[in-house]
Amino acid sequence: MSAEALIDTFGRLHDNLRISVTDRCNIRCFFCMPEHPVEFVPRAEILGFEEIERFVRIAVGLGVRKLRVTGGEPLLRKDLPVLIGKLSRIEGVTDLALTTNGLLLAELARPLYEAGLRRINIHLDTLDRQRFLEITRRDELHRVLAGIDACLRIGYRPIKINAVAVKGLTEPDIVPLAHFGRRHGLEVRYIEFMPLDAQGLWRPDRVLTADQILEILGREFGPLVPVPDGDPRAPAAEYLFADGVGKIGFIGSVSRPFCLKCNRIRLTADGKLRYCLFALEETDVKGLLRSGASDETIAATIRATVRAKWLGHEISSSRFVAPPRPMYAIGG
Ligand code: SAM
Ligand code: SF4
Repeated sequence: MSAEALIDTFGRLHDNLRISVTDRCNIRCFFCMPEHPVEFVPRAEILGFEEIERFVRIAVGLGVRKLRVTGGEPLLRKDLPVLIGKLSRIEGVTDLALTTNGLLLAELARPLYEAGLRRINIHLDTLDRQRFLEITRRDELHRVLAGIDACLRIGYRPIKINAVAVKGLTEPDIVPLAHFGRRHGLEVRYIEFMPLDAQGLWRPDRVLTADQILEILGREFGPLVPVPDGDPRAPAAEYLFADGVGKIGFIGSVSRPFCLKCNRIRLTADGKLRYCLFALEETDVKGLLRSGASDETIAATIRATVRAKWLGHEISSSRFVAPPRPMYAIGG
């Protein structure tokens, strides 16, 4: 391990960087964005590709190995395959992935693959057109399905489905999504609804927990079996179906927080570095990048941000304060 490694005061090693490339989106999921009006960051405040690339090279020098490009909706960022190409060529990066809502994948999956992308997470909460409309306030399910189809044909592996689970709303979607995943060789990951929406809609009793989803799935498929040798640092708890066909995962941020093994830092589209999705403070990196700061100064800033990291988000405690920025503005 390099002497420069990003280790926080709780001994956690940080080798995973999530990069938001835009806060804009072409749908309006209620758990992430307000319906309207949405105030986006002015374009001049968004980091350029050269700025992102420079930051990533410095972070890789500090031991970052895994990158995930996200947003907002990252496929809305003009020329995204150019950025993917730049990131995939950085020596030291062992893993490059993208999280998208899939709407533009039918057109962009091919150029992204050619630029070096292989791993993709596609956000899909329901296979029901009406509920898709209710959740995203847009009638675009068919485009997500076309995007998944394109990724399967092109050969992306793994393709994971991110399904946000909301109590009182998405229970009917749990089993159909699992069948869909098994049929197409996709790993469905159920994500507990987190307090990151823009309209204060989150409540503890709207969280459909991993245990409750396991129970729903167990009634359909029989008891699921925890993956024995799962990556101990991965946020998702993975399970196998008893018949051996397929795998699912849970991001149980609320009922099963994984803060103790967190290895992530996040760069927002407007160049702020965050040590946690729920952090209340952030470090201005764009100012450094645009004022001629040296690589050493930027590296020292990344180290200081990691050192300032708290132990965890405490969503379930009365001390919890939701961050001022909703999910789309941070980068999920
Ligand atoms: N637009 C892309 C997408 O939807 O995948 C990338 C950005 S989005 C903010 C990243 C992920 O955050 C989504 O896949 C969605 O599953 C998740 N997400 C958004 N809001 C959430 C919330 N309040 N709680 C839990 N997960 C959420
Ligand atoms: Fe857009 Fe993704 Fe947020 Fe949905 S979750 S509104 S697709 S950024």
